[in-house]
Formats: sequence, C-alpha cells, structure tokens
Amino acid sequence: MTSFTGDISFPQDSPGQRYVSVYALHAGSLFPPHVEAFGDSIRQSGSLKAPSFSFLVEHEVHGRLLFDLGLRKDGKGYPPAWDEIVTQLKVDCSKDVADLLQEGGVQPGSINSIVYSHLHFDHVGDLAPFPQAELIVGADTAVLMQKTYPSDPTGLWPEWPSGQKVRYVNYSDADAPARLIAPLGSFTRALDLYNDGSFYLLDAPGHLPGHLAALARVSPDSFIFLAGDCCHHRQYYTPGVRLVSQEHHHDIDVARDTMERLKRMNKERNVVLVLAHESQRLEEGMPLFPRSLNEWAKEEMARKPGA
Ligand SMILES: [Zn+2]
Repeated sequence: MTSFTGDISFPQDSPGQRYVSVYALHAGSLFPPHVEAFGDSIRQSGSLKAPSFSFLVEHEVHGRLLFDLGLRKDGKGYPPAWDEIVTQLKVDCSKDVADLLQEGGVQPGSINSIVYSHLHFDHVGDLAPFPQAELIVGADTAVLMQKTYPSDPTGLWPEWPSGQKVRYVNYSDADAPARLIAPLGSFTRALDLYNDGSFYLLDAPGHLPGHLAALARVSPDSFIFLAGDCCHHRQYYTPGVRLVSQEHHHDIDVARDTMERLKRMNKERNVVLVLAHESQRLEEGMPLFPRSLNEWAKEEMARKPGA
C-alpha cells in the first residue's frame, strides 16, 4: 500500500486565477445498517442517518455543474435490481436535486454538466430534469454500461437516456482541451476540467469502476475536496482510526490505496474534505444550498490542527 511521508503540492494560483463557488445539496438520506462501513456511530445509536450529498459548482465563464445527483425522489424509478437495497436502506428523499435547485432559485435547465462520482443508485439521481447537461463519468464506467437495464432486466445500471451527451474521462490527451495534471496532491492523476485550475476531476479508484473525486479551488490556495464514496464515514480518513472496511468496495486493495491518498490530502491545511455521506457535516451545521460552502471552508481550514 502506498504511504505518504513527503510533501505534496498543488498547482499554484495563476495571475487572474478564477475560483468556483461550491454549494452542498442534501438530496435525501439513507439509514444504513452496515456497522463496518459506516462506523461506530451505528453501534452507539442503533442506526445512522446518512445524507446523500450533491454539489453545485458555479464557474463565472463555464456556468453550472453538479457533482452527483444524490437519490431519486421517494426512492422510486430505479432498476428492479436495486429494490432490495433501496428498501433495506430506507431511502428517504422527499425533495430531489431538481426540487432543491428550484427552491433556491436555480433552474435545472441552467445546469451545463453533471459529473457522476460513480454509478451507485444513491449518486445518480434522476437525469430527466437535465436533458441539456453533458454527463461526465470516469472511463472505466463503460465496463458497467455493457449490461444495462432494461435491455437486461437484471441490470443494475440504467441505460443513458436517449440523446444523452456522455463524456468519459480518460486522464490522457484524449480529454483535450481539458488538461492532464499528474500528480495532483497525493493523487496520481487529475483532469483540469476548465483548463484554468479552478476545478479538477481526480482518479480515485477502488469503490466502483470509474470512481472519481473532485477538487474545487474556492479562494486563493484553498480547496474543497469532494470525495464521493472513497469511504463512507469520517473515521476512515481521520488519521490512525482504522482501515476502510471491505463492505461496498469493488476492489478493496485499490480502495485502501485511494484512502491513504485521501488521508494525506486531508492533512493539508488548505484542503477541506466532504464525503458524499458524511453525516457529521450535517450534524455540525455545514451550510446547505443556497448558502455557499466557500466561506465555511475558510473557517474549517482555520480549525484544522496546525492551522
Ligand atoms: Zn454512496
């Protein structure tokens, strides 16, 4: 397993650097019974309400992007292969991402891009309100899309809607004009999506083929790291607590390597990390859309050990 003892670095702010605004949307909750994946808080309380976060990213020039779409409204509309797990996890979603955006004054039709960290049901939401948006996924996602629902009635992954624009991230020259950055911080490779250092997609494999994370530059030399399902609970990225559990990861050895990279990233004073299901962020009062995370991130950085 990779271990990181040396310094890591990030691309510097450039003259005239642009920053993005990041907003968290609480797109439904799950009640996972999995102690091993979700941590000791389940042992203590008997259950855990885990949010499914989606994130809105606004760029002055490139407009609006969503990172993950969270859950589907009322847990309905998934391929039947998910039925058992949707019931087991007591999916609770009275307002989906499109509802939350509209409540906050943002029209779903104004979203230009949607990034899926990965294809699990609690991240893909409902694409229907966003027919104009380009979908961006890790290239290895294509492996899963060979067996889709409803062509295959037992398929877990729904076919893309007809006419859906899909872009696969390869972390190579094939992504041009987006630029490959290798490495980025403790991660092996990343894509500078807008080619201006404001928003990066990072290869974060292990959880599911194609899993990716994002790093948003929100103010000078300051970043919010959207970690998706690199792990499911804060105690795994807090140094020295425990190894990430085998449950729910496609390739546990690779997932654990990614976790070491995540832990190293979290040691940086200028990076604030948010997991897709980080219940403590809600409990601690992380602001939700329409309030931005940018100011909150500065406060979180100031609270970091050694800051
Ligand atoms: Zn998830």
